[in-house]
Amino acid sequence: MRPDGETPALPTGLDPSTVFRSLFQAFPDALLLVDKAGHIVLCNEAASNLLGYTVDELHGLTVDALVPDAIRPRHAEYRKAYGEAPRARPMGTQMELVARRSDGSEVMVEIALSPLPQQGLVVAAIRDVGSYPRVKKALQRARYSEHLAQLGRLAIDTRDPEVLLTRVSTIAAEALQVELAAVFLLEPDRKQIRLASGFGLLPAEPLGTLLPNRPDTPPGYLAATGTPVVVADYATEQRFAVPQAYLDAGLRSALAVPLAERGRIIGALTVRSRRSQRFGDDEVHFLESLANLLTSSLQRAKTEEALNHAQRLESVGQLTGGIAHDFNNLLTVIQGNLQVLEDLPGLDASSPAKPLLAAATRASRRAAELTAKLLTFARRQVLQPEPVDLHALLNSLAGMLRRTLDQRIAITVEVGEDCPLVLADPAQLESALLNIAINARDAMPEGGWLQFRASACASLPDRLRTELEDPSAAVDRFVQITITDSGQGMPEAVRERAFEPFFTTKAAGRGTGLGLATVYGFVKQSKGAIAISSAQGMGTTLTLYIPQPWTAARESEDKPDVAPLRAGIRVLLVEDDTEVRHIVRTFLLGLACIVESAASAEQALQVLDPPTGEPPHFDLLLSDIALGPGMRGTELAARAQASRPGMAVLLMSGYSSELLDADRDSPPGWELLRKPYGREELAAAMARLLSS
Ligand code: ADP
Ligand code: MG
Repeated sequence: MRPDGETPALPTGLDPSTVFRSLFQAFPDALLLVDKAGHIVLCNEAASNLLGYTVDELHGLTVDALVPDAIRPRHAEYRKAYGEAPRARPMGTQMELVARRSDGSEVMVEIALSPLPQQGLVVAAIRDVGSYPRVKKALQRARYSEHLAQLGRLAIDTRDPEVLLTRVSTIAAEALQVELAAVFLLEPDRKQIRLASGFGLLPAEPLGTLLPNRPDTPPGYLAATGTPVVVADYATEQRFAVPQAYLDAGLRSALAVPLAERGRIIGALTVRSRRSQRFGDDEVHFLESLANLLTSSLQRAKTEEALNHAQRLESVGQLTGGIAHDFNNLLTVIQGNLQVLEDLPGLDASSPAKPLLAAATRASRRAAELTAKLLTFARRQVLQPEPVDLHALLNSLAGMLRRTLDQRIAITVEVGEDCPLVLADPAQLESALLNIAINARDAMPEGGWLQFRASACASLPDRLRTELEDPSAAVDRFVQITITDSGQGMPEAVRERAFEPFFTTKAAGRGTGLGLATVYGFVKQSKGAIAISSAQGMGTTLTLYIPQPWTAARESEDKPDVAPLRAGIRVLLVEDDTEVRHIVRTFLLGLACIVESAASAEQALQVLDPPTGEPPHFDLLLSDIALGPGMRGTELAARAQASRPGMAVLLMSGYSSELLDADRDSPPGWELLRKPYGREELAAAMARLLSS
């Protein structure tokens, strides 16, 4: 328009009305002539093309129909305000508006508005800017972030790694608008790569496909390089062999980024497209972010799962330990009374009470064995770790098993000459392995094979690290003992609960459900870790990770010969449980001791240090460790020995962990006795102490 508002003169011979009509139609931007009420009174061909309506459909339509649903109410208000104070708004002043097409799809547009005051109309010129490179990029980036956020939300909502794995392919494919997306994961042996999830997979490469982890396969190449790989065109790819199926499917280009957990490659996230040179820097960054998000979410899911499992076992362990402790006190009383009964003068060999007593004694011994198992699970057993040569231990165990287990089970042992020693209680380790072997036998009713292997552990699985008593322990300080059977294996529901005490799938009387629970407790208490790998019908592998000794083997000290107990030993017995005190006192009297009893440490100190008269002499302080609410046996012993260095100390407890703690904290001269014990064990412990 010229400043004077006059229409410029046309060259002669041209009819203004025809020219302006043609101009209107030929204009490259969509033009809409809109009245005050927002109705379209006139539009051009470009508008029809852009918005997907016919020209006739557009005429009479309100412009509110052309904005996305979400902003329609706002748009109407905005239009009203504009109607009251119309002003020209040129192109480029407001970026990235969105128009809604007749089919519901949306296009990125820019809109210029010019009021025609004389006619009371407004011209809207609408330009499709979606195809501008700058806008396209911005759009694309917005889409990428939106998809990243999608995976992020999913990672927060779900704890299930499978769900994350499955969804990530779909998200990658949608965001990048490509035909195919897939997640490959390295198998535990790192020799093969498994197609773990996918979108638009090829029939030739279905879910679960195993590819060799070699640099000449696409995912193998990525695993080897560890950096993103862009394939501009499969047709000219030189770095690895392109499977024919990719070419047959018309795939042209690809992008793959590594999945890494703490710097270790665990797989690859890959996308493929039918267009060549489909992937640039933006795509690499996007896929890398997606991969990072995926691995950290997977990592977290796994850690949480492991922790939950460990915590559950931990709390069951605490409960079990507590019960076993009380139980041991009861058993001490029962066994002691039985022993005293047996020795009563009125009971000769012919008495009918004899077999009854013998049966009761056997039963109480079995009960003691059971509580010992519970304590093992609860990690409250007294362990005597020492450097153990697995070569010797496994071969001797296998020899024994070959004779006793089942002739139809072939038993093999593979221990390298250079297999390091482990630091563990050898008897308990053997009993753990025996438990595992018995389970294997039960899983192979028709026979099969059972293999023991041991080797230095190259790397402790991350999941197990988090469970370690000391997660900072050096990873390479473990030896792994692997026990594999060819038996029926375990379905997931069994595998998940196999370590729980009392969990058994065996008929009543055949299984107690304490086998693996004790193995678990032993391994944990030995500062190691344990893993099961098993599936129904696929056999079972248990892997025990046992620490190596830190220091050189300690010389095993030969025990000095023990002299028999002399009569008249003066003993101060401290025990808060009346019945236990009573029975121990009876034992001591039976051993010809002179006994003074106290029910608490405070009372014992009074006996040792009477307010009047000479302090009495004692050869031995025999004290329980937990003495009710008052001072503990260990502190009592320390105080008593301070004034009586010559007095021997023998501590007892039904709580093996107390013994453990006492063992750690107490001077070497003290002896520890574990409840329940019989008269002979008490006598032996006293003899060891008093003869040294
Ligand atoms: P129990 O042997 O008394 O049942 P365990 O704690 O030793 O108790 O084992 C618990 C359960 O774990 C078993 O009942 C069995 O279902 C399963 N299990 C353990 N070891 C194996 C194995 N080698 N093969 C198959 N299943 C096993
Ligand atoms: Mg068992």
